[in-house]
Amino acid sequence: IKNDTKILMMLDFLEYRIKKLNNKEININKKFIIYVMEASQREDYNHALEFSIYQSNILKKPLLVIFFVTDKFKYSNIRYYKFMLEGIVKTKYEIESRGVKFLIVKDTFVNGTLNLSKDAALIVFDKNYLRTQRIWRKKVSELLDCASFEIESDVVVPVELISNNLIPYAYIYRQKLEKIRDIFLKKVPKLEPKIKSIDIKIPNYQNAFELPSLNNNFNILVSYILNELNIDKSLSTVEKYYIGGSDEAYKKLNDFINNKLFRYKEFRSHPDKDYTSNLSPYLHFGQISPIKIVMEILKYYEINDDNVKSFFNELIIWRELARNYVLFNEFYNQYEGLPLWAKNTLYEHINDKREYIYDLKDLEEANTHDIYWNAAQKEMLLTGKMHNYMRMYWAKKIIEWSKSPKQAFDIACYLNDKYLLDGRDANGYAGISWCFGAFDRPFKERNIFGKIRYMSDKALKNKFDIQKYLDKYL
Ligand code: FAD
Repeated sequence: IKNDTKILMMLDFLEYRIKKLNNKEININKKFIIYVMEASQREDYNHALEFSIYQSNILKKPLLVIFFVTDKFKYSNIRYYKFMLEGIVKTKYEIESRGVKFLIVKDTFVNGTLNLSKDAALIVFDKNYLRTQRIWRKKVSELLDCASFEIESDVVVPVELISNNLIPYAYIYRQKLEKIRDIFLKKVPKLEPKIKSIDIKIPNYQNAFELPSLNNNFNILVSYILNELNIDKSLSTVEKYYIGGSDEAYKKLNDFINNKLFRYKEFRSHPDKDYTSNLSPYLHFGQISPIKIVMEILKYYEINDDNVKSFFNELIIWRELARNYVLFNEFYNQYEGLPLWAKNTLYEHINDKREYIYDLKDLEEANTHDIYWNAAQKEMLLTGKMHNYMRMYWAKKIIEWSKSPKQAFDIACYLNDKYLLDGRDANGYAGISWCFGAFDRPFKERNIFGKIRYMSDKALKNKFDIQKYLDKYL
């Protein structure tokens, strides 16, 4: 193992991205190398996949890639499952086109992995920073009889290399990250699998979902799988705005590079216009790699271009700071996780009179007195996404109109995670926490908010053509 790891370190695109999760050995008597795909749901620029192919080649054992789909996850609903599965069935096709068998199996991550591990020489996971998904990997790794590895493939700079502590401000993260960022801007090569596993029969998985033929209409398989799942099907699906899959992500990326990036800095906070990348749903499911995005942009732009700097500040600094937040703040998705000064100031104003109080139902149905807020909520209900500037306004107003800041925090998380394709993401918990004071400084004290930054509807009217935004969604 030690020697293998040394050799792997020489594959420099993997440098600092490999972590051994248990102290078991590679079990050379077993049949397969297994990659359990979860965070990095793609074939391209996937470090975990290439690491697995490399292991398969040196150990001369076939590789199986597996994706577990479950209806036991508490947030599961058809809106985002459809988007996720559109991506997964295409990924299956792309990985199988390289001769590697890809199984989609209805099971939970933990049960499914343990079941399959009976035949595993080693197991590979991709890295996910969220608590539940970390616990899955830890639990399985403790119970396994073989070595398990976790491979980081969804941030530019591995988060634990920046710090092993919570970083409270973006400027500190930026200072640390920019010193080492460029050594991580490396192409991910596609390794040739020497042993093809595509035709191997796996006895325990006769029930895996299959593409009837390789030239298949992917939607048939997506509908079939959705039909088999007992998930919340009351939400509308959003294919009119977003279709899942790496191919769709690349279309959005090309459109962004060709038509939007040159004015990103000026217009990124203008919800009446469409000048952001709209890549967050794809990034959330790992259907596109952030490194791939950076490498593509740098084919056409200088790294010091102002628009590029502004975009990388969001894509790299804020996105990766959010991963630091969920890794090192145990209460990242709870009110309790906010900085002490923020909780204290909100508490001091807990009895301030609220002019309007809305409950979850009013908010969920976009039924408030504020047309701007209603439009933002409707954007989310209708499209599965909300413009960043309106997300800030949206969450700040929930604070203003709720009985307590804790209730406001819970409502914001609930709606965010239920309706947004990019919900249930580190960015969401960090973004909501920012609205409650995290990563921010104290401002002039005022009613309800205390020293937390306030946002008024005046800013919406002054900054951009809010009427145009209203016309789109009301
Ligand atoms: P672009 O401007 O094109 O940015 C490119 C990428 O950078 C985004 O896709 C995203 O991955 C990252 N990014 C951009 N802004 C931020 C940010 N402020 N923090 C962290 N990463 C960022 N983002 C989510 O991905 N999921 C969420 O659930 C989510 N909830 C939010 C809730 C609130 C209250 C707030 C204030 C922000 C939230 N964000 C969330 C962050 C941000 O609003 C979205 O990432 C962004 O609007 C996505 O649109 P885009 O891809 O067009 O962004």
